[in-house]
Amino acid sequence: MEGSRRGEALELVMVATSLEETVSWIEEAEGDCPILIATSARPQQVQCISYAQLKDVVHDEERPAYIVFGTGWGMADELIEACDYVLPPIEGRADFNHLSVRAAAAIVLDRVVGDR
Ligand code: SAM
Repeated sequence: MEGSRRGEALELVMVATSLEETVSWIEEAEGDCPILIATSARPQQVQCISYAQLKDVVHDEERPAYIVFGTGWGMADELIEACDYVLPPIEGRADFNHLSVRAAAAIVLDRVVGDR
């Protein structure tokens, strides 16, 4: 059985003190500034984009896409406003839709870059 690759994955983690710092890392690595996309469990009124539209943007654009996830309190309003787009909340059948960040990340990535 293949051993765990958790350590290898954790070596990729980098800690930043601001969104700007992470944007500069992406610019350095990719040679272009990223398109910033915010996520939230709560509907937002600004810069909304559907999952299908974002899939097209990611496919058509040369620039890297940077999908941002929040902490236990969600993303601060000023961070959401600093993004180019905001995805709609993932909804279930129940009213409560506040997912763990890893569950939200898995669903968002599958919708935006999944092969379907
Ligand atoms: N109370 C927070 C809020 O209103 O966004 C939930 C925080 S949740 C523990 C951490 C992060 O996971 C959120 O900032 C968002 O990035 C993501 N997330 C959680 N539930 C989500 C949902 N239903 N739709 C989209 N993203 C979600």
